[in-house]
Amino acid sequence: MDPERDAERLADACTAVSGLVGDRAESWDLAGLLPEQMLRELAGRGLLCPQVPATDGGLGFGSLLSGEYTAHVGSLCSSLRSVLTSQAMAAWTVQRFADARQRHTYLAQLTHGELAALGFSETAAGSDLSAMTTRIVRDGDTLVVTGEKVWMTAACYADLLLVFGRFEEGAAVVVVPASTPGVRMERIANPLGCRAAGHANVRFDAVRLPSDNLLGGIGQSMSMLVTTALAAGRLSVAWGCVGILRACLAAATGHARTRQQFGKVLAEHQLISGHLAELYAEEQVSTRSCEYASRCWDAHSVDMVAATVVAKYVSARNAVAGAASAVQVLASAGARDGHLVARAYRDAKLMEIIEGSNEICQLMLAEHALSVT
Ligand SMILES: Cc1cc2nc3c(=O)[nH]c(=O)nc-3n(C[C@H](O)[C@H](O)[C@H](O)COP(=O)(O)OP(=O)(O)OC[C@H]3O[C@@H](n4cnc5c(N)ncnc54)[C@H](O)[C@@H]3O)c2cc1C
Repeated sequence: MDPERDAERLADACTAVSGLVGDRAESWDLAGLLPEQMLRELAGRGLLCPQVPATDGGLGFGSLLSGEYTAHVGSLCSSLRSVLTSQAMAAWTVQRFADARQRHTYLAQLTHGELAALGFSETAAGSDLSAMTTRIVRDGDTLVVTGEKVWMTAACYADLLLVFGRFEEGAAVVVVPASTPGVRMERIANPLGCRAAGHANVRFDAVRLPSDNLLGGIGQSMSMLVTTALAAGRLSVAWGCVGILRACLAAATGHARTRQQFGKVLAEHQLISGHLAELYAEEQVSTRSCEYASRCWDAHSVDMVAATVVAKYVSARNAVAGAASAVQVLASAGARDGHLVARAYRDAKLMEIIEGSNEICQLMLAEHALSVT
């Protein structure tokens, strides 16, 4: 580990993304679309795979560095951060479950310009993924995938769809090229937030694939498969919430310093100071809980799973509260569709639903508390 070199690599990655995003996040939110060329450039430079080793085309960051990078992307544009989270989860799933040949093939695709989305959720299987009905069936040398996935982030941009489904006595994940006959995509119009993240419902009508597309070539337990993939997404979302909080804090303090009412700047009104203090505390607490979880990942600590759930739960709740405070401080100056704090307000709410809703996180944390205390 070389902290100076790490700081330089992080700064380079953040500068590269900032350069590509510029001041366009608002217009992307209003249009509900990210520029595909920019996504391909980011993917082609490994900037959507921060934790993939550099030898495989990624940035080779550990969890802490990757988290800070994700927070930076989240502070610029939560839709882009959502695409980053999907790509990073896809890469992590490949790293965990693929054989050597698949790992080489798919990581090369994910770090050379191709984009990926993941499908767990179905109409009747949201929080309860054990209700999943999508089937992956062997037929000679081929696989046949049948089912429907809902709310797949980044699906509208994706070349590769990682589909989780029932397989033999357990479960498996299969890589479905989005152009395969039988794949039908329906874009989700006007989502509450992360409007440019390319969410879609995707049907798989007896989609036929080479059996090589089954990651690892064997079945797994459903709970192990989804828990592994979701854990990586959970920490990425938590860091994305830190980014939302940092952007809101900067907007709120900047406005409070300059906007005058009743003969003095807002920052000198104590009730406004209260909002700023809360926002600052929310950003700090979220950052510390994410840092702790990332350190656990980097050290392969047994505390990693629980620490990740804490980080996600705390950061999502704080992002919702912090974004509401920022809108309150800016008032009419931020009450316009597309404005940074208005976007944060809508985007943050979704963070309490995805990768384990608040309630599902509470259930997991209560079970953990009962087992360790
Ligand atoms: C913006 C966005 C992006 C998404 N991206 C993806 C993606 O890329 N891939 C993918 O597969 N899915 C994705 N999803 C789906 C997401 O994972 C589900 O929305 C989530 O798991 C919740 O499922 P649900 O919406 O069906 O809610 P439900 O499971 O119907 O839950 C409804 C409410 O009940 C609560 N609840 C459920 N069970 C319990 C319980 N036992 N005790 C207490 N409360 C409970 C929930 O917390 C929630 O508040 C996305 C969703 C959104 C909104």
